[in-house]
Amino acid sequence: MTETTVKQIQGRTGPWEMVLGLEVHAQVASNAKLFSGAAVGAGAEPNTQVSLVDAAMPGMLPVINRRCVEQAVRTGLGLKAQINARSRFDRKNYFYPDLPQGYQISQFKEPIVGEGEVLVERDDGSAFTVRIERLHLEQDAGKSLHDQDPDYTYVDLNRSGTALMEIVSRPDMRSAEEAAAYVKKLRTILVYLGTCDGDMEKGNLRADVNVSVCRPGAYEKFRETGDFKHLGTRCEIKNVNSFRFIQQAIEYEARRQIEILEDGGSIDQETRLFDTVKGETRSMRSKEDAHDYRYFPDPDLLPLVLDPAWIKEIEASLPELPDAKKARFQSQYGLSAYDAGVLIGEQARADYFEAAAKGRDAKLVANWVTNDLAARLTAGGLDIDDSPIPPAAVAELVRLIEDGVISSKIAKDVFERMWAGEGSPEAIVEAQGLKQVSDTGALEAIIDGLIAANPDQAAAVKEKPQAIGWFVGQVMKATGGKANPGMINQLLKSRLGV
Ligand code: ADP
Ligand code: MG
Repeated sequence: MTETTVKQIQGRTGPWEMVLGLEVHAQVASNAKLFSGAAVGAGAEPNTQVSLVDAAMPGMLPVINRRCVEQAVRTGLGLKAQINARSRFDRKNYFYPDLPQGYQISQFKEPIVGEGEVLVERDDGSAFTVRIERLHLEQDAGKSLHDQDPDYTYVDLNRSGTALMEIVSRPDMRSAEEAAAYVKKLRTILVYLGTCDGDMEKGNLRADVNVSVCRPGAYEKFRETGDFKHLGTRCEIKNVNSFRFIQQAIEYEARRQIEILEDGGSIDQETRLFDTVKGETRSMRSKEDAHDYRYFPDPDLLPLVLDPAWIKEIEASLPELPDAKKARFQSQYGLSAYDAGVLIGEQARADYFEAAAKGRDAKLVANWVTNDLAARLTAGGLDIDDSPIPPAAVAELVRLIEDGVISSKIAKDVFERMWAGEGSPEAIVEAQGLKQVSDTGALEAIIDGLIAANPDQAAAVKEKPQAIGWFVGQVMKATGGKANPGMINQLLKSRLGV
């Protein structure tokens, strides 16, 4: 584990550094809500997925959804975190038109999951650790619809009561890139675990980004002592829902704070919004403290007590997680850290690779999957699960290269035809006559002809062996690129006497 790399920002009065801590809201993958049996899922007609509990009808009582609890435990285990055998639900009181209860059921003092950690890879392949402070379960609110009528705001309660996991990090990220890389890794882990679908466009995974700035050296003092007084005052940017916006919001916000501080001002702790069109953050409200919410234990719910045997059962059912899979891909298949990292980025891509790599040259398979296939899928807006080329076809293509039936260059052509649906690699090679010319006699005849017709070039090769490349090119041209390159070199060398 390496330390975080600090990116300094040059101000008028000297260098600054940023400090970032994230609160990620992840919608729990569950068919029903956290405290009611109403269905969860986008796309339904407004107010059709609302139980009496979600509508906060008087006298209705919440009943905890076991599945949502299991998902939170599973996530905690995936984050190598402390699972708290006893946790508690609190009421967080505030008024919102789309919050009929007048409070959100959340977990404040006793969350279900305690401290954990996430290993995050940077683009350059180095890695750092983000400490997780806690994960708690809470309800989502409904949604106010402002665009349905010129005079009225409507409320859709379909989302009301949906289970969220709030995952709170320590302030361990030091650049916008690190923050985005953290959310990316967290998302991958949740999707592997099957505890959140990770769909950021739908808002099923979104981040509140806390940003502060300080002078060099201050953060190290904070890490030594744990005392927040060494850090600058933070602002929290709410609900940022793409990797790009996370980075833009952080860059903008850090600069805004530096300007204020350099002008002799001070930062007000506040909640801000990121305007994705203007690319700037603006104030939403001054930061309320916990006591403003009048948190108190929800009297309708008993403390949540987990059976240790059940936690063990969940632990035993965890899938192979991204870090373990990456390490295995490197050792089992001899892949580079980079290739292994790209392949494990999505479970489906990793599965595809493994299906194609069976008994084949795994590095070659990895190249096809991460380059040619990935490019085609991206251009077509397709998931790898919808790839028109199945893993077995990539395996067959690689076998043809391994066996010397086609060259890597011809394989590109075959791949394009596979993508176009012209059939299996073998069938395409057959139909298009793309077999490599490995017939010694045929190649010898071509080479002898070339040497006889170009005595000057042949003499040049004797002086300068690299000049052999010209002959290689000519043979390729004469065979339509189908000559076996190894064989050409061998034959040329013996014929030219080099
Ligand atoms: P709240 O629930 O009021 O938002 P928390 O204490 O739970 O407050 O902290 C929220 C987030 O803010 C955490 O991710 C934490 O790491 C981060 N954070 C706290 N102080 C700072 C700071 N000075 N700079 C950047 N991030 C911070
Ligand atoms: Mg917060």
